[in-house]
Amino acid sequence: MNKEIQVMIKSKFVKKFKQGYPLLFQDSIANPHVLQKEGEVIRLIDEQRNFIGKGYFGKQNKGFGWVLTTNENEQLDQALFERKLSLAVKKRKKFFDDKDTTAFRLFNGEGDGIGGLTIDHFEGYYVITWYSEGIYKFKEEILKSVSNVVDYKGIYQKKRFAGKGQYIEEDDFVMGEQAEFPLIVKENGIKFATYLNDGAMVGVFLDQREVRKRIRDYYANGKSVLNTFSYTGAFSVAAALGGATKTTSVDVAKRSLSKTIEQFSVNEIDYESQQIIVEDVFQYYKYAGKKHHKFDMVILDPPSFARTKKTTFSAAKDYPKLLAQSIDLTNDNGVIVASTNCSAFDMKKFKAFIQQAFKSRNKKYSILEEYSLPEDFRTIPQYKEGDYLKVVFIKVQKG
Ligand code: SAH
Repeated sequence: MNKEIQVMIKSKFVKKFKQGYPLLFQDSIANPHVLQKEGEVIRLIDEQRNFIGKGYFGKQNKGFGWVLTTNENEQLDQALFERKLSLAVKKRKKFFDDKDTTAFRLFNGEGDGIGGLTIDHFEGYYVITWYSEGIYKFKEEILKSVSNVVDYKGIYQKKRFAGKGQYIEEDDFVMGEQAEFPLIVKENGIKFATYLNDGAMVGVFLDQREVRKRIRDYYANGKSVLNTFSYTGAFSVAAALGGATKTTSVDVAKRSLSKTIEQFSVNEIDYESQQIIVEDVFQYYKYAGKKHHKFDMVILDPPSFARTKKTTFSAAKDYPKLLAQSIDLTNDNGVIVASTNCSAFDMKKFKAFIQQAFKSRNKKYSILEEYSLPEDFRTIPQYKEGDYLKVVFIKVQKG
């Protein structure tokens, strides 16, 4: 059995952990010096040395590890990982059965009971993301559990534990057979070309599945669509399939041009009838403003933080400004889809940003609908920060 490091929790936080809060945060620890080696099993105790829970030490952003059980009789062994994984598989039954959607999240960190670990499914292949060196120490147990509970063709991994969660560049293939890339996956019938072994991002962000479907099925028909921070153009593809008259995709990364052409092509959309622009969004906005370009739908899905040669964007600081400039490019009665995955603010604050932006432009608006993470990205009520996705469909009113 693993040796357990005794981590003493300050009395004012004991209740929180007892109620199922999963993240071992720095402030809660009375004796932080005991934490030496990532991957060590920890036993949370109160100041009277009563048992609170068990977990592991792993540095991830501001966290020092995750609590995996509050049952004293459970060990952090392979069986525990397998139990949690097999429960996660059961909860995704409808995704495994859905022939039109072959890419989804199988295991979502603390939402499925193991913080610091996610597993995504792509057409029978799996991508495991390790968010700390600590969880990576359990690689053997976790791989064995995966092998025991799913039929896989091949397994890839992403290590995201350098400093603030940056991706560590290396060959991501782990075991099984290699996929042929692009690996074409389906999402509600939309095809996406994915590359599981080509850096941090595989080509599509699975958490936007419902938003893409909604745009395709309900909003896009007959509309001109501007998709900013477009990456591989996944929203543009959804809009084009939904009957958009034209899509314009803007992203500063050079790779976005060939990647977006590829996504249109695998969906049999003539990419030449669409516009793909490699440029800083804020530069493009200046240009579009001068030319009086306007769109019926503007999609905003920026990263939480990004620095380009010309601009720095921080969602927590600059989202209101981005929204205000987007209002200028949206036709009356048009729709802005404002999305953010920034966990530094919640939906309430995001709505305050929206209000602030419209006020600055003297424009009225109404909120049409809201989205957060889809069902496969499971979250728990004790850890609200885990539900990071916020998407708001906003109608820009006339006058
Ligand atoms: N909306 C995308 C995901 C965005 S990922 C989707 O649905 O798949 C973030 C993207 O923003 C990256 O592709 C990055 O190149 C781009 N980006 C970051 N800063 C930018 C800027 N100032 N202008 C344009 N693109 C930017």
